[in-house]
Amino acid sequence: MDSSKNKLVVVTGAGGFIGGCLVADLRRQGFTRIRAVDRKPLTEWYQSFPDVENLVLDLRLRENCFAASQGAHEVYNLAADMGGMGFIEKNKALCMLSVLISTHMLQAAKDVGVERFFYSSSACVYNGEKQRDVHATALKEEDAYPALAEDGYGWEKLFTERMCRHFREDYGLETRVARFHNVYGPHGTWDGGREKAPAAICRKVIDAKHRGLHEIEIWGDGEQTRSFMYIDDCLKGVQLIAHSDIVEPLNLGSSELVSINQLVDIVEKAAGVKLSRTYDLGAPKGVRGRNSDNTLIRKKLGWEPSISLREGIAKTYTWIEQQYCDKIQGRRTVS
Ligand code: NAD
Repeated sequence: MDSSKNKLVVVTGAGGFIGGCLVADLRRQGFTRIRAVDRKPLTEWYQSFPDVENLVLDLRLRENCFAASQGAHEVYNLAADMGGMGFIEKNKALCMLSVLISTHMLQAAKDVGVERFFYSSSACVYNGEKQRDVHATALKEEDAYPALAEDGYGWEKLFTERMCRHFREDYGLETRVARFHNVYGPHGTWDGGREKAPAAICRKVIDAKHRGLHEIEIWGDGEQTRSFMYIDDCLKGVQLIAHSDIVEPLNLGSSELVSINQLVDIVEKAAGVKLSRTYDLGAPKGVRGRNSDNTLIRKKLGWEPSISLREGIAKTYTWIEQQYCDKIQGRRTVS
């Protein structure tokens, strides 16, 4: 076996969507020492595994970050207070407080001698002025500057990107940063207020179908555009970037641009229903248009996310429908 698979890998935010899926993927690959960390009680983790060291710690606290990082070879720092537009527009202070996690995790990683530190940044770092058009010109990495990030959440991500850079330059900590563009898939948040558009729309369509309703409410006019990356592409990209020599933040997103109305079309196809649409123009909707320019990742890694939205939504829809049915029948909602 590859000896690096016996070294300790730490995943923070492991009770959440991407962290939980990353732990599952590392296990599948045969990593033998995985430490999964999240502040949620273990019963609320989306995925947990008995053969993994699971720690419930609030990583805003410095001493907990040292406990989480002790002995680690690699750290994937995915913990953050986050959610879809409905959450980040109304919880800016909370989003910015994730800087405590980032700061203390970087300090701990440096002091305990971690060899690789991966940080999950976001497309929310990009300058809002460059995202005013639905025919979104795809965002290149350089478009984060001059800085005009998404208020709250995006500024924290941009600040932490720079901290990663300076910990590398000043202290020699090998940091790697990916800017995720909307990630979706099974084992993600699908209700409760933190869910993002693909999961929210799947849930609304499932709800309409199961209750015999014929209508769905959409936030905004539905013409706002985005790209959505399926979780399997995200996991592959995270590990490629983490082990690469690319030290600057890199886009990690799909370049398949769709409007929210087109996303609803795809979910309706997965459900086999057609619903009439109402539009809540006062709801949080974020920037007008956003897409990922993948020129740099293609050039540097010879790879980019490629799983189609249709394929990814079909799998996600099936999983959310199962969760929905479990919930209404009073069964446990996390897997
Ligand atoms: P998630 O909310 O499902 O997971 C984040 C996890 O972090 C949660 O389980 C939460 O309990 C945990 N956490 C929050 N505060 C903590 C603390 N103080 N101590 C310990 N754990 C804490 O989110 P996700 O979608 O899995 O996102 C993972 C990372 O990717 C985050 O950094 C997020 O900002 C970033 N990201 C995600 C997306 C996306 O579309 N999902 C897009 C851009 C960036």
